[in-house]
Formats: sequence, C-alpha cells, structure tokens
Amino acid sequence: MCGVFGAALPPGSGTEAANVAALGLFSLQHRGQESAGLAVSDGAELFLYKDLGMISSVLDERRLPSFRGDLAIAHCRYSTTGSTIWENAQPTLRLGPRRAVAIGHNGNLVNTRDLLGQLKGGRGRLPATTDTELLTALLADEPGEDTVEALTTLLPRVRGAYSLVILDRDRILGVRDPHGFRPLCIGRIRDVAAPLATPGGLWGDDAPADGPRDAWVLSSETTGLDIVGAEYIRDVEPGEIVVLQPGREPVSARFATATPALCVFELIYFARPDSYLEGRSLYEARRRMGIQLAMEHPADTDLVMPVPDTGGPAAAGYAEASGIPFREGLVRNRYTGRTFIQPSQTLRHRGVTMKLNPLRDVVRGQRLTVVDDSIVRGTTTKQIVALLRRAGAAEVHVRITAPPIYNPCFYGIDTQVETELIAATKSVEEIREFIGADTLGYLSIAGVLAALDLPYDRFCFACFDGNYPEPVPYDVERRKFMLEEPVLAGG
Ligand code: SF4
Repeated sequence: MCGVFGAALPPGSGTEAANVAALGLFSLQHRGQESAGLAVSDGAELFLYKDLGMISSVLDERRLPSFRGDLAIAHCRYSTTGSTIWENAQPTLRLGPRRAVAIGHNGNLVNTRDLLGQLKGGRGRLPATTDTELLTALLADEPGEDTVEALTTLLPRVRGAYSLVILDRDRILGVRDPHGFRPLCIGRIRDVAAPLATPGGLWGDDAPADGPRDAWVLSSETTGLDIVGAEYIRDVEPGEIVVLQPGREPVSARFATATPALCVFELIYFARPDSYLEGRSLYEARRRMGIQLAMEHPADTDLVMPVPDTGGPAAAGYAEASGIPFREGLVRNRYTGRTFIQPSQTLRHRGVTMKLNPLRDVVRGQRLTVVDDSIVRGTTTKQIVALLRRAGAAEVHVRITAPPIYNPCFYGIDTQVETELIAATKSVEEIREFIGADTLGYLSIAGVLAALDLPYDRFCFACFDGNYPEPVPYDVERRKFMLEEPVLAGG
C-alpha cells in the first residue's frame, strides 16, 4: 500500500503545487496512515517535510504556505519494509554527487539485499531502514546525463513492486515496475491559470502572468484526480517512465517490456470504490463480485449486511442477486483507522473493538448474511461475529468477496509471514469454527474474474494461488525489518 501523488504546475505557481499535492494525497489517506510527507522543488532546491501521523495533521494549512515551487510530490505510508519511525516516513530525499532526488514509493522491493550490495558505502550511508531510502541513494549515485537516463540503467536491476513519484530539480517522474503491481495514473488540470488567477483566486498575488496553461498530476488512484479537478488521461504503463515538466506535454520513456500483473486485491478491497482501475468502476466491480458470491454461496437468511465500509458494494450485489433485504447492521466509527492497515497486533486489536458498533434493533433475532472483502488473520472477523451474536443475531453466515489467502504478499501488502494467514494453516471449515460463524463462503478466483470480465493474466493472484509474477528468494527477502538487522551492516 501507500499513496503517492505528484503535481507539476505552470511556471510561477507560487505555493499551488504543494497545495494540489497535499489535496490529492488527502483522497489517498486510506492507502496509508502511519506517516505523510511532501517534497517541493522551486527549480533550484528541493525542500522536504514529513512526519508520523495522518495527512491532515502533518500537512496542515499552517505549513503548506512555506512550500514554494512549481513541482511537488506527496506520500502517505503503510509500512512493508522498516519500522514506523520518523526516519522511514516518505518522501525520501537524497542530495547525491550526481543529482538531487526525492521519491515517494508505493510497493515493496524483493531484492533489497542485492541492491544494498550495490550501494557505495553500504548501509552506513542510509539514515532510514526502508527499501525506498536505498533506492533513492542508488538513484542519486547512478551515472547518467539526467534522472531519466539514470533510471533506465538502475531500474532493470530493481525487482519487486514499485509505483514511484520522483522529484528532481526541474521535473516530476512517474514510474511503474514492469508488472505494474500498484496503480498510478496521469491527470491534467486544464487551463489552471485562467480561473485560479482571478482576484481572490487560489493564486492570489502569485498568479502566473502569461495566460492559461495546463497542470499535470500523478496519483495512485483516480480519486486523487477527482479531488483536484483533473481529468483522467491514462495509466502510467508497466515498465514506463513518464516525465512531467511545468508548461510542457508529458514525455514517455520505456525501461522494460510490460508483463502486467496488477494486484487484484486493489480491485477487491484496497482502492476506493469511487476509483477506476483497468477501465472498471470499483464500486460496480465489487457489486458484481457480490452477485457472483450469492450464486456460489447462497444463504437462507433474513438480512444481508456489509461490514462497513468496504463490504458495502458487494453486500448490495449479494442482496440484489439473492432477493434477501439489504440492511446496515454495523456502524463504523469514522475516526479510527482501517484495522488491517495498523502495523502492530496491539493496535490492530484495539482498532477492531473501537471501530464497529452493532445496530441492536436491526440484528436482534435475525438470521444474517454478513459480507466482507477478506479474511487475513481471522481475528477481526471473529470479533465481528461475536459482536453480532452479543447484539442478539440468531445466525451469522459470513460471505467473503475474495478467495482464501494462502500465501504472503511481497509486493507491498504487509502479510509477509505465512503463520499470520489463517487460511495457510486452517481449512475453510476450521476457519468457520474459529470465527464462530454458522456458515462461511469465499468467492472463487473464477468468480472474481467473472465479476471483472477480465482475463487472469492481467492480474497478480499470488496470495490466493501462489503464482508469484516476480520470484522471491525464500530465505533472504521475506523480512520486513531486514535493513534493521546487524548482519547487514556495511552492506
Ligand atoms: S500477492 Fe496478493 S496482495 Fe500481493 S500483489 Fe499479488 S494479489 Fe496483491
């Protein structure tokens, strides 16, 4: 996970690039809640601000006016390599001998040890313990006329998942790994100067002088385009580098052949339902998954209800296909984080108990079909079933709009240890017993594909079927804290 955003505004835009990047990032808060940050270039120098916490507390309106420059990138973090400490917040910034660069990274690299061996000076040069810090240091050192040339020689040595926004002194670059595990799209804000430069407009005294021009943005999801008023142009292609410069059309370069394997979990759960991926509305895709689920695993119940917020579209589809009435039976406290994103077991447990409350009058005496998007460790679902039973539910039938998760993810989702995954050690019947449900049904891979109406080979399904698009060395790369281990000192 993680959310990234980049904004290249017309020359002379004052502080607007920082404002646009921060606003775009707000729409990506669901992708990471541990830290947030912003890097800006005024054409001569790069400035960085980052901190632990939610975007609204880190990038607040008192700080943004100090970020002047036409180029900005922003990042919110959900950790997959390295602890949740200030040093590991992003963007990362490196003033290297060859160039100054800042990077916001969504994904996870799988050959970090190899890359560390390529860094002159080894781990002692890294202030942080993330794969992104390492990548930034390598890019700052890499020979080449400019950042694009350096990337075309560096990236073929980098393996794993990376959707990047990169800032140098005069450009923003968007990059996706050859598989395109994580999304990244390009948007355009047309003629930004015209409406915004009017008296009282967002530019105020900083209004660009010479007529309407377009701004270009990069965003992890299309919701980031919507919130800043940008139109969707296209996705950054797997294996592509897109260069955005103020006042110019984007330029494209290729560093690898595309072998697409978009994370299917982005469509099932991670991305917002109002986002579009692979040309699909995710709300509609999830509603269709609910329809498929009702066909694969019918239930004889009185009500269908979602686990809020992400189970909503699929529950609507399940109700529509089954003819069972749809009702909300759980209310989510909107001011606690998504539990799966919290990094430690302690916080995860507290998050579940703090965030959901049953509507007792709705569920009392009722046979319920409860629709959710995934079961990872099983503890959350177990608590939800217990909550509903305590509220008086007569029966609880759990339906999941994803197949069982048998395998860990090494491409940007923090489920790196098999023992954390309940389906890796228990059968479906044992999971049903563990969570305390009357019945349990998972949507099949074929059902997911039927709902998406797209072929299998467009996606990564590795956590469901073990077909990893990018091989992962077993004993080396499967550790979140590998850059914090003394054995790697000196690289
Ligand atoms: S392993 Fe699973 S979560 Fe990871 S990228 Fe593949 S489909 Fe997504």
